[in-house]
Amino acid sequence: MRSHLLNDTNAERYRRTVTEGVERVAAKIAATDRPFTGITADALAPRIESIDLDRPLGDTTAVLDELEEVYLRDAVYFHHPRYLAHLNCPVVIPAVLGEAVLSAVNSSLDTWDQSAGGTLIERKLVDWTTARIGLGPAADGVFTSGGSQSNLQALLLAREEAKTDSLEKLRIFASEVSHFSVKKSAQLLGLGQDAVITIPVDHDKRMRTVALARELERCAQDGLVPMAVVATAGTTDFGSIDPLPEIAELCEQYGTWMHVDAAYGCGLLASVKYRDRIDGIEHADSVTVDYHKSFFQPVSSSAVLVKDAATLRHATYHAEYLNPRRMVQERIPNQVDKSLQTTRRFDALKLWMTLRTMGADGIGQLFDEVCDLAVRGWELLAADPRYDVVVEPSLSTLVFRYIPAAVTDPAEIDRANLYARKALFASGDAVVAGTKVSGRHYLKFTLLNPETTVDDMAAVLDLIAGHAEQYLGESVVRAS
Ligand SMILES: *Cc1c(COP(=O)(O)O)cnc(C)c1O
Repeated sequence: MRSHLLNDTNAERYRRTVTEGVERVAAKIAATDRPFTGITADALAPRIESIDLDRPLGDTTAVLDELEEVYLRDAVYFHHPRYLAHLNCPVVIPAVLGEAVLSAVNSSLDTWDQSAGGTLIERKLVDWTTARIGLGPAADGVFTSGGSQSNLQALLLAREEAKTDSLEKLRIFASEVSHFSVKKSAQLLGLGQDAVITIPVDHDKRMRTVALARELERCAQDGLVPMAVVATAGTTDFGSIDPLPEIAELCEQYGTWMHVDAAYGCGLLASVKYRDRIDGIEHADSVTVDYHKSFFQPVSSSAVLVKDAATLRHATYHAEYLNPRRMVQERIPNQVDKSLQTTRRFDALKLWMTLRTMGADGIGQLFDEVCDLAVRGWELLAADPRYDVVVEPSLSTLVFRYIPAAVTDPAEIDRANLYARKALFASGDAVVAGTKVSGRHYLKFTLLNPETTVDDMAAVLDLIAGHAEQYLGESVVRAS
């Protein structure tokens, strides 16, 4: 069994095993003709159920053959140009190489004595990101598992910085289309049920700053404490960007922590053409970035950045066995002092390999391409009488709804759109997402693949219309 350990004697076995796996995946990626097979959970479950985990197969080839059956054959492939659903990107090869290196070496980034150079590389990438944001010389941050964790940590710091004698008095302001992790974080942070004040959005799904100003004022007059404003730079549903400079001014005026959730919009930090769309982000006290969304990095790769490094002390605890207080005096760089996690992956290496191979412009150009593609898609939808399209894209998202000329009942149109999405998923021809706008069911393209073409979008719109029409045809038959 020791032959399975990755060590000096088994280096050759490691090479052979991983190469065999990489070859399988490469062949699979090359041969995928659809983003999904359309398999159902009910059909797949018995295959996985039937496997006896206490009877190992022993040999790599057999295990990979089995993996083909239980996973690879029916996985959802984000690299396929007709995967248009969620905020998942195709990944860049240098980052995948980084992933292979970091899991083989298996550094843990909590302390210097478990990572050495890994810690310094992470710190350099944090500095690189804060410089791109423009957070100033006192900025710092740390890699996290994802945007939800970054938002939680940012709001923890904001809570600790707020001046109050009671958690019940704290209020967080976020737009009605902000990410649900804001509410979840408020709950986890022990704030009251009413802690998150929802601010309405304008026609373009951007926070209405007039409404924000009114709510901040009301909060002050009620003797409550405005703990944080969460501005979203790239909403999950629409890609809309809240007016950051105006929000920054209001935060300044009311002494409120400004958090920018740029989980999606962070790709603009590398953009060659559209960086100005997130101007104002430099005023933030904290920023969430998800490199695994718009930097084409494999999951996980995310960070929380802060304007004032000293605020990270709210996440600092010392343990004799790990990071005793004296290490701070000895200037030993322990990232655990800034993190909610302890044992932590060296995810930063993926971004490092990416920047060292392609440069920031390389990533930014890819993101610009999907933003441009979204504009083409918007034009396509706006010109198509079969569809109603919501908001012009600020990033790479399109939200639309099939509207048959002959049907006026909005509930029936809802059902046709829901049916079309399901039927498309079951066919595996393409994958799209869905959401609700003003109480009605809509469909969504999240474009993060520069390989997707206008023809792909047009073809998927035809497929959706076909499924919706089939549903409506059958529903006429049902009714008669
Ligand atoms: C995706 C997303 C998050 C959550 O990020 P995870 O990495 O999925 O945890 C937070 N905010 C916004 C705006 C997002 O789009």
